[in-house]
Amino acid sequence: MHAHNGLDLTPLSGQFSGSLIPPEHPEYDAVRQLWNAMADKRPALIARCQSEADIQAALAFAQQHSLEIALRGAGHNIAGNASCNDGLLIDLSLMNEVTVDPATQLVQAGPGATLGQIDAACQAHELAVPVGINSTTGIAGLTLGGGFGWLTRRFGMTVDALRAARVVTVDGDVVEASADSHPDLFWALRGGGGNFGVVSRFDFQAYPVGPEVFAGLVVFPFAQAQAVLEQYRNWILTTPETFNAWVVIRHAPPLPFLDPAVHGTKVVVLAICHSGELAEGEALADTLRGFGEPHGAHLGAMPYAEWQQAFDPLLTEGARNYWKTHNFTELSAPLVETALDYAEGLPGPECEVFFAVIAGAANRVASDATAWSARDARFVMNVHARWQEAAEDERFIQWSRALFRATAPYASAGAYVNFMTEEEGGRVEDAYQQNYARLKLVKQQWDPNNQLHLNQNISPD
Ligand SMILES: Cc1cc2nc3c(=O)[nH]c(=O)nc-3n(C[C@H](O)[C@H](O)[C@H](O)COP(=O)(O)OP(=O)(O)OC[C@H]3O[C@@H](n4cnc5c(N)ncnc54)[C@H](O)[C@@H]3O)c2cc1C
Repeated sequence: MHAHNGLDLTPLSGQFSGSLIPPEHPEYDAVRQLWNAMADKRPALIARCQSEADIQAALAFAQQHSLEIALRGAGHNIAGNASCNDGLLIDLSLMNEVTVDPATQLVQAGPGATLGQIDAACQAHELAVPVGINSTTGIAGLTLGGGFGWLTRRFGMTVDALRAARVVTVDGDVVEASADSHPDLFWALRGGGGNFGVVSRFDFQAYPVGPEVFAGLVVFPFAQAQAVLEQYRNWILTTPETFNAWVVIRHAPPLPFLDPAVHGTKVVVLAICHSGELAEGEALADTLRGFGEPHGAHLGAMPYAEWQQAFDPLLTEGARNYWKTHNFTELSAPLVETALDYAEGLPGPECEVFFAVIAGAANRVASDATAWSARDARFVMNVHARWQEAAEDERFIQWSRALFRATAPYASAGAYVNFMTEEEGGRVEDAYQQNYARLKLVKQQWDPNNQLHLNQNISPD
């Protein structure tokens, strides 16, 4: 069996249990799509794996045919590295099984699992793994880059909950990485991205959460942003770690609890999730509401898994997206002022600037304990430009870069590789700080020829 591009698929198809999708396949265009429409890539072949044996066969095929290799979980990575032109895309999205052992509270997730699938399986036992805030994001890329969300203040980064990973190496071996088995590889996987092998299973520690949390939104007019954030910026660090409230500056979506006259106007949203006592969450949210005169609020007890899907409608795939990120130890007054200056000029209705709060458990881990190193970071900013038309690219990208540059003087060390749209001239090295040299050694051991280079690359050279 030959693909139209000449690739002989016969040897692979005989040993492959998933599906092989060459460009002429009717599903090719649907399957090759990534979350970020700016990454429009055409692999020579997509190998949709169903098993570790499929991953081994796909890796061997790529090597026999000297094909560049891309790895994909749910395809959310902003940099578009989860595909390639003319190479082999190893698509793991079908390997999405999640099992939970309620006795040990250990969770096993396939590399294609989405956060929504993990939340659903865990919440059946009133458990949760600390993951991100959008249910369609993939666990693989999220975990390998660090991972944070509403529960990070309380339970740490996603990598802090990782207990083991099974890895198919570029040589085709299957190894278990944990504190006791290949500990260097396990260390590198906790933040070092897809540089070291193909992860075929993630094992996490889950924690009791829910089933209900106190959650919702408080929406202030942009004109009050300065006053609200002045009160918020130190107060948030005094709240219990069960409480989280992220700042989102954007144009108001058509939320039903807002007066239609507010829709499309600039607002500051405080997005709240409290996983402790519901009454305590309500009291904290009341304090926050009092920081100004909100346009409106939608707050209350709701299932944790439902809150985890609250932002999905704003974060659908297929739009053009460009992100820039910094870490901060504090939201200083000049930082807030600078961010608001640029937010004043938000270039489109879907753009936002957000400040996530990760202060808490993640800060109590040593910065060399995992590859993810920014243990002093208490806030992560994402400048999220989002638009529809390719002709508009330059305008949106320039706005993101300008805000990024203007806030750089206030940034702390490191950077979140999962929020980096492109290789930014040495920024990968800066992201890992003092851990970079060790990551290079691990890379030399597990992928000395840099076969897995479509990622925020740690070069072995
Ligand atoms: C809408 C949206 C919301 C987000 N929210 C959050 C958030 O709240 N918190 C947060 O921390 N991050 C968040 N992110 C960022 C997210 O963590 C990254 O985009 C992440 O890479 C997504 O994982 P994925 O599996 O979907 O990525 P993919 O694009 O499928 O993969 C990303 C990269 O990971 C590597 N990779 C994938 N699978 C494997 C594997 N099995 N073995 C080895 N390497 C592999 C490859 O290098 C690949 O290029 C968000 C992203 C989006 C688009």
